[in-house]
Amino acid sequence: MNAFASGNGDGKEFASHAPGYWSRDGGTPQLWNDWKWQLKNRVTTLAQLEKHLTLNEEERSGVLLSGDKLALAITPHFFNLVPPNNPEDPIRRQMIPRIEETWTSPYDMADPCGEDSHMPVPGLVHRYPDRVLFLVTDRCASYCRYCTRSRVVSGVGEQELHTNFEEAFRYLEKHTEVRDVLLSGGDALIFSDDKIDKLLSRLRAIKHIEFVRIGTRVPIFLPQRITPELCAVLSKYHPLWMSVHVNHPRELTIEVKEALERLANAGIPLGNQSVLLAGVNDDLETMKILVHKLLICRVRPYYIYQCDLINGSSHLRTSVAKGIEIIEGLRGHTTGYAVPQFVIDAPGGGGKVPINPGYILYHDNEKIVIRNYEGKIFEYPELGNENVQFAPQREYHDEYLYS
Ligand code: SF4
Repeated sequence: MNAFASGNGDGKEFASHAPGYWSRDGGTPQLWNDWKWQLKNRVTTLAQLEKHLTLNEEERSGVLLSGDKLALAITPHFFNLVPPNNPEDPIRRQMIPRIEETWTSPYDMADPCGEDSHMPVPGLVHRYPDRVLFLVTDRCASYCRYCTRSRVVSGVGEQELHTNFEEAFRYLEKHTEVRDVLLSGGDALIFSDDKIDKLLSRLRAIKHIEFVRIGTRVPIFLPQRITPELCAVLSKYHPLWMSVHVNHPRELTIEVKEALERLANAGIPLGNQSVLLAGVNDDLETMKILVHKLLICRVRPYYIYQCDLINGSSHLRTSVAKGIEIIEGLRGHTTGYAVPQFVIDAPGGGGKVPINPGYILYHDNEKIVIRNYEGKIFEYPELGNENVQFAPQREYHDEYLYS
């Protein structure tokens, strides 16, 4: 199918775009379905881009000047979603560097989630009491221009990731308070089946680890990687959960839908994390189609992230108000399972903070006054709150505003 004819997957329909730009290069279906072929044939250079796309000046300069920030790499599968002539296309804005990446805004940070300062062992981030983030690799199948870990991911940025696996396992063995491990990076699913098997088996041998999650964009960039063999490996280590990362409905192709179904059939609960991005998904209609398509793929929309203040991402950031408007337009208007939580990962390492439309109009010991999605107002009796402990309300208002 021509990727940019009508029915290209921007709506509720699922489309296949293979082999797309590769048909004239003799990419046989057999090779196309080989995930290693997909990785070997990624688009990584200006010349390869220009073979297929007409770049504008912002993109051309972006490719030439942003190479020491984050590498350019796009799998053939995902590259087929990029149209040849529209620099403002939502997939193109996520993947093709632009000159704006070299600009610095006053709020930009190299490590917006404050991970480096919470790394007791290289590659292991322990910021919350009972869970850790395990950065197992700095490589991904393709690179997103807004990546919050661009300081290490792809291997060309300011810092290098040198995960020390043995030290990390020893740390986890000693820290019995850790019950939840999130494997991320980079993307663990670009490892071989054997390496994933060994990694999960080692983690599962630590008895106090109850829950293992994998954060991955591989099912979206490289659905060919989700082989029956990989699913068989993963299914040995339940409870194993997975967070995928889809930002736009077009990313949910027929191949991706089938890959997600294979994962779901292997018993893996699937959630999705989207990043709110200007010109990509910052409108209610796009988000509504996306969350509905995710449910069809058996994926629960989990988070929408306000874009982190990562260096060079100001052109992709939206207002916070836009995210609140989107949640307002989903909650009550569609299936509850389809409504993700909008969060800001508090700059500097404060963790995820839920951001919601204001549904509580008044609350005291006797009643709570609330409004629903239609703006209708309701009262519910309160039973007193003397035994209820809330997090301390900081007397920060004046202190913060006037310090
Ligand atoms: S897949 Fe995730 S870690 Fe990799 S570049 Fe994209 S956002 Fe960053």
